[in-house]
Amino acid sequence: MSARAGVVYLVGAGPGDPGLMTARSLELIASADAVFYDRLIPPGALAGARAGAELVYVGKQPGVPSVPQEEIGQRLVEAARAGRSVVRLKGGDPFVFGRGGEEGEALRAGGVEFEVVPGVTAGVAATAYAGIPVTHRDDASAVAFVTGHEDPAKTETALDWDALAAFPGTLVFYMGVKRLDENAAALIAAGRDPEQPAAAIERGTWPGQRTVEATLGTIAAAVERERIGAPALIVVGPVAARRAELAWLERRPLYGRTVVVTRARAQASGLAATLRELGAEVVELPAIRIEPRLGDEEVRAAAAAIGEYALVCLTSPNGVRLLFEALAAAGRDARALAGATVAAIGPGTARALAERGIAADVLPERFVAEALVEALAGVEVEGRRVLLARAAEAREVLPDALRERGAELDVVALYETVREDPDAAAVEAAQAADYVTFTSSSTVTNLSETLGDRFPRAARVVSIGPVTSEAARAAGLTVDVEAARHDVGGLLAALLEDAAR
Ligand code: SAH
Repeated sequence: MSARAGVVYLVGAGPGDPGLMTARSLELIASADAVFYDRLIPPGALAGARAGAELVYVGKQPGVPSVPQEEIGQRLVEAARAGRSVVRLKGGDPFVFGRGGEEGEALRAGGVEFEVVPGVTAGVAATAYAGIPVTHRDDASAVAFVTGHEDPAKTETALDWDALAAFPGTLVFYMGVKRLDENAAALIAAGRDPEQPAAAIERGTWPGQRTVEATLGTIAAAVERERIGAPALIVVGPVAARRAELAWLERRPLYGRTVVVTRARAQASGLAATLRELGAEVVELPAIRIEPRLGDEEVRAAAAAIGEYALVCLTSPNGVRLLFEALAAAGRDARALAGATVAAIGPGTARALAERGIAADVLPERFVAEALVEALAGVEVEGRRVLLARAAEAREVLPDALRERGAELDVVALYETVREDPDAAAVEAAQAADYVTFTSSSTVTNLSETLGDRFPRAARVVSIGPVTSEAARAAGLTVDVEAARHDVGGLLAALLEDAAR
């Protein structure tokens, strides 16, 4: 059910991995009039907010005066009283060291209805991603979530170190880095075994999660040495040693590698998601963007005359999408292609066609124009009308071959690829990259021109195929890896093989 007017939702956004957001949180974010959010929410958590929703940052930032807690409560009350539906989005779980309790009390005092949506708390999520089970049949029958850094305004410590030292189970400290030295010493002084396994987990479930293993006696020094910073959790107990067997994140083939994806933003998500699943840190640095040309006369004419073509060739998923948009604008649909032979340059293009109900008749073994020319050898084109619908800037291999064979060819540019201005933060993040991936010659040319000497020279260059490699060499780059199969799957396979060496 979507967010209701006049209600405040205290929502947990989980520990950082967007995949750990609950279905309820996404539903509420998508429908709320206003979202008040904190700093540690997953990347893209607000992407699903509806257009026109008010997004209000109320988080703390080191060194910047933050919105006082009472004021947050007050603003939530005011927004709800004004008849709006309000999501109060917090990292992890709102009631686990999230001050959700205080905000709920402020809402109750203000007579505002609220709902609490639990989130996956860091104490179980960061640990799970580190391969540490917080309970274990043999090691721990209880787990305690403890704050390692109390409200600095409090004079007396509320922590009973004797009780914590004697606690028969796992201790998970939130906000535990700053005072780790004192806290570990206090636990040991109160009788906890300094030899007990301990671990620190930094940025759990985020890209670049790091875990440091030590003992209670050595964890503070290890954290200092490895420069573990917030947000981080400290785990104390025998379960911390289970990581030796249970660590799984670090075993992913691209763990610890940073990979730059240069595809246009609209197409990058699939490749980026797969790379992330393989353990890579992904920097999205789109070099190009697609500008449709559906208003062009030649496009409109081709769409209107689509039934007259004996052969229709498509060379990219974008081309397929835009051809169908052009058809729709002309009041046509897939049936208009009933009489034509339809050729696709590769599996991505064929898939885009299949999604629209068209099974490609021609699909080459290799996914370059030359191979499509060969694959078309058996198709009768002489004296027939042929449509090649593609990008404005493309090679002439296919048109030349078709004209030579006597086709009455229309080459129609459905879109052009234009240079994308690079995002400064992404350029910075790319400097440490291990790999830069290129899926087309236009991405190579544009990225190397835009970045100039900011191109990450130390990174290995991965190219989707010979045409892209040629463009890379022309731009002064060395191609380290070239895919044997010239599609995104082939590029991934080549990158994985290289990373395994
Ligand atoms: N409500 C949050 C906790 C907020 S307190 C929750 O339920 O997770 C903030 C502390 O949580 C941080 O100092 C850190 O100790 C811990 N934390 C939050 N996100 C974390 C993450 N991704 N990895 C490790 N620790 C995290």
